[in-house]
Amino acid sequence: MTRRHNQPLAYPGVVSFDFDDTLMEAHTGHPILPLVHLARRYLAAGYDLHIVTARCEHEGKRALWGLDWGPSLEEWCWRWRLTPVQIHYTCRERKSKILQEIGAEVHYDDDLYMLEDIERHGLNGVNMLHVLECPEAFGV
Ligand SMILES: [Mg+2]
Repeated sequence: MTRRHNQPLAYPGVVSFDFDDTLMEAHTGHPILPLVHLARRYLAAGYDLHIVTARCEHEGKRALWGLDWGPSLEEWCWRWRLTPVQIHYTCRERKSKILQEIGAEVHYDDDLYMLEDIERHGLNGVNMLHVLECPEAFGV
């Protein structure tokens, strides 16, 4: 069971988001606007924005999954004003280790397996569906 993180602007720190199907629809390239707006709110509040993706680094050269053209992850983030951002590629590994290393207060993800691992390590994982279902609770 993931906890809600519905007071994100209490004090600045480090926040992390998954990329595919959390910030971007993996097969269309479209932004998932409530999550993009939430990430921008954290940036505006002085948080360090990180993306922790299970992609491998070479898969970050193209934002759209499985295509060999189009913007990179960095360019996609620039396009949607998610900068500055640091992008970490776990290459299918679980995300708890890097989240501990960067000191993420909270990580938003759509992957229940990743979220369970994050919770098991005492970290704060939020299912991105909570943001879609109740955006006003997150201020977006
Ligand atoms: Mg995902």
